[in-house]
Amino acid sequence: MTETTTFHTTQPHMLKESKVYQSQTLMGGLSGFESPIGLDRHDRMNALRTGDIGFVHSWDINTSVDGPGTRMTVFMSGCPLRCQYCQNPDTWKMRDGQPVYLQAMIDKVARYQDLFKSTGGGITFSGGESMMQAAFVSRVFRAAKEMGVHTCLDTSGFLNRNYTDAMIDDIDLCLLDVKSGDEATYKKVTGGTLAPTIEFGKRLAARGSKIWVRFVLVPGLTDSEENVENVARVCEQFKDAIEHIDVLPFHQLGRPKWHELRIPYPLEDAKGPSAALKDRVKKQLEAHGFVVY
Ligand code: SF4
Repeated sequence: MTETTTFHTTQPHMLKESKVYQSQTLMGGLSGFESPIGLDRHDRMNALRTGDIGFVHSWDINTSVDGPGTRMTVFMSGCPLRCQYCQNPDTWKMRDGQPVYLQAMIDKVARYQDLFKSTGGGITFSGGESMMQAAFVSRVFRAAKEMGVHTCLDTSGFLNRNYTDAMIDDIDLCLLDVKSGDEATYKKVTGGTLAPTIEFGKRLAARGSKIWVRFVLVPGLTDSEENVENVARVCEQFKDAIEHIDVLPFHQLGRPKWHELRIPYPLEDAKGPSAALKDRVKKQLEAHGFVVY
C-alpha cells in the first residue's frame, strides 16, 4: 500500500518550526492500517476498555522530534483538556479518530523495529491525550518492549489515574507537559488541574522512567517569573528522572484549525516570546540545576 506524506502539527512539539518538522517527517496519515468499520457506541466503549481497538488521528515517522532517534509517532484522538494554545483542536473528540486494530498497530511497530534499533529510536504515543486510551497504548508498549523497541509517552499527565504502575514500567521516556507551575494558571491555560501531572511525574521517577519536561512559553499567559519559578518547583519533585526541560516558544501555526472548526480562539492576537524572554526563562530554570533547551 502506498503511504502518503502528510504534515501533522500536534502539541507541544507541533510548536516547532513547521519547515523543520516537515523535513523530518517521512510518511504518515492513516495509511497502512486496517480499520474496523461499523462500530456502534457499545463497541467503541468496549474497545476503549480492552484496548483491542485504538482511535487514531494520524501517525508519522520522524527524527529528533518526539524522542531520541527515528520514531513512529502515533497521534491518538481524544483530550480532556482545552489548552488555550492547542495546535490540534481536531484531536479533541475521540469519535473523530479512526478505529485501528491493536494487532495492526503492533504489526506496524514490528515492521520498523530494525530502523528503530539502528537509530536508537522507537515508538511514541502522542495526541490529543494518549492516556485517554491507556489500555491500547500500554498493550502496544508491552509488545514493543518484547521486541526490544524504545517506548515514549507524550502526555500532560492529567489522566494519571488511568495508568497502573505496571503500565508505567513499560514507559522508557515520558515527554511530560508541565503547562504551568500553579493551579490557578494551570486552570486558566488548560481548564484542568495540575496535581495529577505532579503525581504522574513522581510515579514515573519512582519506577525508573526518564522524563523530558515540556513547558510552552506564552507571553502574558505562562511567562511570569512567579509561574516559571513554580514550574521549577514542580519539576524538582521528580528531578532525578528529568534529563532536560524544553522551553517551547508559542507560535500561531495552529490558528487555522481553530478557525476551520469555528471554535473561538483565545490567543487570536498573541505573539510568540522574544529571544530575551526565552533567555530569561531558560536561565530561571537552569538556576534550579536543570538542563534547559
Ligand atoms: S493537552 Fe489537549 S488541549 Fe492541551 S495542547 Fe494537548 S491536545 Fe491540545
